[in-house]
Amino acid sequence: MKSIGLLELPAPILLDPNGKNWTAMRQHEPLGSKQIVAGSLRKHFDIELVNLKRGEDSIEMGKVAWRGMQLKKVAVGTDWRTLDPTRYDAWGITTNYLQERDIARAIIKHLASAGVKVVAGGSDAFAEPQPYLDAGATLVILDKSGGSNVAAMQIALGVDPTGPFFLKTQEKVLKSGTPRLRPEEWNLPSVEFVRQTLGMQYWEGRISDEMLPIGAAMLDHGCDRHCDFCETPTYKLGYQHMSPERALEWVALQKEAGARSFICLSDQFLGRILWEGGKSEILEITNGFRALGLPVLWGNGLEISKATLGHGSKNGDPRPDGELVDALWGWDGKVGCAQAYIPAERPLQGSKDYAKLLEWRSHVELVKAIVGAGVPDLSYGVIVGLPNDSDDSLSRLLDAVIELKGMLKSVNPRLVFKVTPFAVRPIPGTVMTAQLQASGLLRFTDPAILGGFWTACADTKFMNYEKVSDWQMKILATSDKEVSWQGFGNIGT
Ligand code: SF4
Repeated sequence: MKSIGLLELPAPILLDPNGKNWTAMRQHEPLGSKQIVAGSLRKHFDIELVNLKRGEDSIEMGKVAWRGMQLKKVAVGTDWRTLDPTRYDAWGITTNYLQERDIARAIIKHLASAGVKVVAGGSDAFAEPQPYLDAGATLVILDKSGGSNVAAMQIALGVDPTGPFFLKTQEKVLKSGTPRLRPEEWNLPSVEFVRQTLGMQYWEGRISDEMLPIGAAMLDHGCDRHCDFCETPTYKLGYQHMSPERALEWVALQKEAGARSFICLSDQFLGRILWEGGKSEILEITNGFRALGLPVLWGNGLEISKATLGHGSKNGDPRPDGELVDALWGWDGKVGCAQAYIPAERPLQGSKDYAKLLEWRSHVELVKAIVGAGVPDLSYGVIVGLPNDSDDSLSRLLDAVIELKGMLKSVNPRLVFKVTPFAVRPIPGTVMTAQLQASGLLRFTDPAILGGFWTACADTKFMNYEKVSDWQMKILATSDKEVSWQGFGNIGT
């Protein structure tokens, strides 16, 4: 069997002259997408994980000017220049974040310089394959379902492909059949492989030692919504979900590998509510998490409006569905939901622009019900720096967050409450990015800035990006104090 090195990239950080990091430091988290890739390849190749996030090296990648400062771009982990490119017959590199692009390209250059085949995939390579091909990648995978993984490696290695594929080389697009794999069809990786992917950090905050190490499971993919800032709709997968039995097999595998909690990575876990029997499936799956004794961390968030009596449908009943809320966010100190990210986006008036959002009063009632269910720690995500943002709109957003925090603390005074006011990020391929580019509001081209949640990169019609960044910090400061959360300075101080 040919051998494949599945490479996890070092972690990017952005250091200002005072040594403060301006991006989320994510070095020791569980590796979910690697599990799916390894599962798809394991019957055809010898697979090894090469995790360059592990390690103590700091590799300088140049500087970028931002807010009048020179930010040093640094990759943290293991220096790829110590890798022997010929260690495997081919390499697979996944880049899911724009911010990692330059690091991925440097590594591809290093590996390809020895003539070794490199297959690139992941959300960023899918959105813009050319930078990866220019760096020396043999192929880029243009199919986010996982259905082209085997054929991509076979073609890169000069073997006749045994299945369908949708790929890009420097010369042309290669397509055969319909490489659309449903999550139900994803093969499970080996327990030994999963063990290597477990993490000791969680991007939404600290969790207790009893919940370490952390696993990760993706139980569906795609989405029924079309939010203009999100890349998921560009995958053109619709929404596809696993059966409860299969979903629980993936979660049980995390436990077998040693996980004592897990992050559910689904794009849209509650999408299944739209089908008859969907609510029963959700209850069966969340009961299954409890039966396994594994706390769930909703680190990518859930579309909370789907946990209402109207299931998020247009003009549906916006009151909380208590049974669903308890199943999803209930916590008894041992099992249930230990932490959740709430993608509130623009909770005050966003329901006009985003079908997934509720009107403010209904939103408040639902988030109060979520806290009432017991979840002890919430991250409340809002977006700042939309093209129409002004001092007035962001001031009202700040007031609303403060008001909400007060109400939630009255439901549970011990609730840990953090606000994540993410700046608009122009993810390649999204509707919002096309609009930002056309409007001339974008101020940067460096992927390290464009891809950062904490480095505002676009003016609005009414303020410059520096003011957007100031508003980010003001809203961030409403969070409970937690030192070095996400490795990003000291928030709330
Ligand atoms: S609901 Fe979530 S996953 Fe779906 S399009 Fe909107 S942001 Fe993306």
